[in-house]
Amino acid sequence: MSYPSEPFINGRYTSSATGQPTNLINPATEEVFASVSSVQAKDVDEAIEGADRAFRQSWRDIPPGRRAEILFNIAKILRANVESIAQLESRCVGKPIADARDEVALGARVFEFYAGAVSKFGGQTLPVSRGGFDFTLRQPMGVVAAIVPWNFPFPIACWKVAPALAAGNTVVLKPASISPLSALLLGQLSVEAGLPAGVLQVLPGSGREIGNQLVLHPMVRKISFTGSTEVGRGIMELAARGLKRVSLELGGKSPNIVFADADIEQAATNSPMSVFGNTGQDCCARSRVLVERKVMDCFVEKFIAATKKLIIGDPASEATQIGPLVSAGQRAVVEDFMASARSQKRSIVSGGQRWGSKGYFFEPTIILEPEITDRVWREEIFGPVVCIRAFDDESEMIEEVNDSPYGLSGSIWTHDIRRALRVARRVESGVLSINSHSSVHVEAPFGGFKQSGLGRDLGMAAMEGYTELKNIYIAD
Ligand code: NAD
Repeated sequence: MSYPSEPFINGRYTSSATGQPTNLINPATEEVFASVSSVQAKDVDEAIEGADRAFRQSWRDIPPGRRAEILFNIAKILRANVESIAQLESRCVGKPIADARDEVALGARVFEFYAGAVSKFGGQTLPVSRGGFDFTLRQPMGVVAAIVPWNFPFPIACWKVAPALAAGNTVVLKPASISPLSALLLGQLSVEAGLPAGVLQVLPGSGREIGNQLVLHPMVRKISFTGSTEVGRGIMELAARGLKRVSLELGGKSPNIVFADADIEQAATNSPMSVFGNTGQDCCARSRVLVERKVMDCFVEKFIAATKKLIIGDPASEATQIGPLVSAGQRAVVEDFMASARSQKRSIVSGGQRWGSKGYFFEPTIILEPEITDRVWREEIFGPVVCIRAFDDESEMIEEVNDSPYGLSGSIWTHDIRRALRVARRVESGVLSINSHSSVHVEAPFGGFKQSGLGRDLGMAAMEGYTELKNIYIAD
């Protein structure tokens, strides 16, 4: 298999990148399988200036119909390359191959949606009180810096790139340093699909080293970030200096609320993958389960049984559901949380250990009835660890759910529609599902309350977030 190994700037892979190469490690084997040149300050400047030129000289003025056509072409070429992109992604981050294929298809669907959105997105006419004619325009901003994490590298890159391009911006995309391959391929395939050179630049490299430059560069008008709350906060502070637009998709500690009248079989057998999927490295992971006490024992028994059936192993195998954690560092984070649970003598009823003799695997782990002050209950673990607590009273349970700095996602299981809606309205969270664990719909807004973020990805809300709103008045 061949791998992209250079930054993608101004329509081609560039061998002049001045940074150190980053070795990419397959998390399932712990072996280096590829190496990618990282960018340094000079390359970042070149990419941003190229993106600004491409914005002014071509992309913003291309007729919307042609812009839509190019985005559809990108979707088509992505669909034709699902297998090769999925293989890269799986090797890079240890994602089970079947999941990787689904995620590439999701990325293609995102391009299709925003290709269609180009012709359905515009301003308004307004009946201003002094008469005359007043209307608004939605205009592109210019260069957008899109900074994305390693847990869903391809779809999250598409969530940002597609609406930003659809709205007429150019994009400098910075993938996480350990997962740059699918983003680089996106750059190359987009140009093959007809995207003018410079409209999408892809910069592999360390966020710590080039992040400040991306945020502070005067030609960058907006920063669209997905990653940890800590880094997001730093970006927002820095962006304030230039009053840059920011959207932030950050961490989560999402609840999974199960009432006694729910279909317990369905809730319990579906719930393990809502937290252990992607080896728990999911901002929407339902890592706090709250179960009405009457059905706690029955739910826990079924949840453990369903967890034990999950197939852990080689991400390249079609049957695998749970791959390794992304890195030794991420496994150390998970082990640190487990050490704190053990030191507090918490009840670990399943898992809790490394799995296999090589690779960064960790068993799906279930902790029963931790205290609400415990780190494992309060903090985002980003690994395959779930905590389950019983509740008696609906209002107290909602207070417990909202007692968190996060508010990204969550599920409610009940057959009582009035209760479902009552609880859904009171839970402080940007995304909720009822009798389901589905959080992401290309057509619907995705994002968090509180410290889970600011602004929205996906849906028409994301398009709005990549435009400035201009008002124009014409006198009678
Ligand atoms: P991270 O914050 O460490 O890194 C994310 C990206 O930011 C990477 O590209 C990284 O190189 C870059 N970066 C790091 N330091 C930077 C800096 N100082 N300036 C600019 N960029 C910098 O996050 P991660 O470990 O890659 O991803 C895991 C986190 O992402 C979790 O907290 C998870 O919840 C969150 N996440 C959120 C969503 C969401 O939509 N809300 C989705 C996926 C992941």
